[in-house]
Amino acid sequence: MQHQVSCECGYRAREEDEDILVKTVLTHVNDAHPDLVGEVTPEVVRGWVELVP
Ligand SMILES: [Zn+2]
Repeated sequence: MQHQVSCECGYRAREEDEDILVKTVLTHVNDAHPDLVGEVTPEVVRGWVELVP
């Protein structure tokens, strides 16, 4: 199973390792959604994670 996050902007990230995925998504938020930095914490990102085959 892989961990996947789909952002509201259409960005999608997929990783086997959830911790790496969380970091990848936080980097995306920094780049694409600077207004959300501070609001989107690692815990929030973990709530977005879906498991995909
Ligand atoms: Zn996005």
